[in-house]
Amino acid sequence: MSSIPTEIMLGGCGHDAAAMSVDEARARIDAVLRPPTLVQRVPLRDALDRVLAEPILSPLDVPAHDNSAMDGYAVRAADLEQVPEAPFKVVGEAFAGHPFAGTLQAGEAVRIMTGGVIPAGADTVVMQERARREGDRVWLDVAARRGEHVRRRGEDLAAGDAVLDAGRRITPADLGLLASLGLAELPVYRRLRVAFFSTGDELRSVGEPLAEGEIYDSNRYTLYGMLRHRDVDLLDMGVVRDEREALAQALDVAAANADVVITSGGVSVGEADFITELLRERGRIGFWTVNIKPGRPLAFGHLGKAVFFGLPGNPVSVMVTFYQLVLPALQRLQGSEPQPRLQLRARALSDIRKKSGRREFQRGVLTSGIDGVPEVRLTGSQGSGILRSMSTANCFVVLPEESGDVAAGSWVTVEPFAGLF
Ligand code: AMP
Ligand code: MG
Repeated sequence: MSSIPTEIMLGGCGHDAAAMSVDEARARIDAVLRPPTLVQRVPLRDALDRVLAEPILSPLDVPAHDNSAMDGYAVRAADLEQVPEAPFKVVGEAFAGHPFAGTLQAGEAVRIMTGGVIPAGADTVVMQERARREGDRVWLDVAARRGEHVRRRGEDLAAGDAVLDAGRRITPADLGLLASLGLAELPVYRRLRVAFFSTGDELRSVGEPLAEGEIYDSNRYTLYGMLRHRDVDLLDMGVVRDEREALAQALDVAAANADVVITSGGVSVGEADFITELLRERGRIGFWTVNIKPGRPLAFGHLGKAVFFGLPGNPVSVMVTFYQLVLPALQRLQGSEPQPRLQLRARALSDIRKKSGRREFQRGVLTSGIDGVPEVRLTGSQGSGILRSMSTANCFVVLPEESGDVAAGSWVTVEPFAGLF
């Protein structure tokens, strides 16, 4: 934690004269976030996408018994070594879920299937491809090594071993892993509650007719989609008009009912004046000029107890600022460590226009070229209102602040959407 007072970190209450870098914005946001404290126990399935509040230790050895990795015959390796020519006597079967009850004696074999428990007395499995069976006698290939094709008790995990760390967001594989340990309930953090609304007199919601000059609100739908994928409880507060009273009321309801409040629109210079004032009355909010494109203006801070993000209005700006600045914050607030983004180098298939100064997140389509090398083309026009560019894209093309135009054939950094959405 930095020791800089919150007010200064938030950049005061007016529009910052100096622009800040994306990294600085991330760091300032991160510095004021508090991890969650409320823990609940939920049934295993309900833990999917939730964040573990405590480390999980294995209550069992996995596997719980020595068992066969192959279909074949369980024997004593010593017998193979001592009487290599002699057949073994097949004295029983060990199928998955149906162990052999007795103890193997010298010269005996048990027919065993994959997953079957190794019978007492046996130590080796000879695979069936190396066996010749006649009635209750079986001749086995003597080349088998002691212990071959036996999965040892506890070889995956020993009882008490750490399985998953606190802060882990539970994946489908984790669910299976935890189920294999017999864990029916898990300690997870309480779900975050996120309130969001759009601002703008020009906005109408789907299902309503449009009057001259009006447009449909799309930001609430991209936000809904992006938030749904983060496993949070949502409070969709609709469209709020650019009116002091309506906004004041919406902000108060949102702050009282949510851990995080996200708005779009109304934070650009000039337009922001009365929002600035409303927010100043209600919390500690900084108005930032972030060196990011699209998405330069951003309001961030606390609205009462809630963490507040005032995103720009343009639809692509909303998505870019969400993924680059809001998502890491949500991860932190959910109790997990923000994951470093997967970045790859790809060859640009066309010239890319870029002015130096801001970090740009252009929209690209990443493919693997004929030689297997990743290649990226832009989705077309990169205007911050062209939402189709996000819909068509499968990656961001991340162009650093200092970069100018990029010539076709150059290497650029891309961030695949896979894992992000
Ligand atoms: P603003 O930041 O409010 O000045 O908005 C910037 C641009 O984004 C304007 O063209 C708005 O009409 C547009 N815009 C703002 N909010 C939305 C929204 N919820 N859905 C679609 N477009 C929006
Ligand atoms: Mg507006």
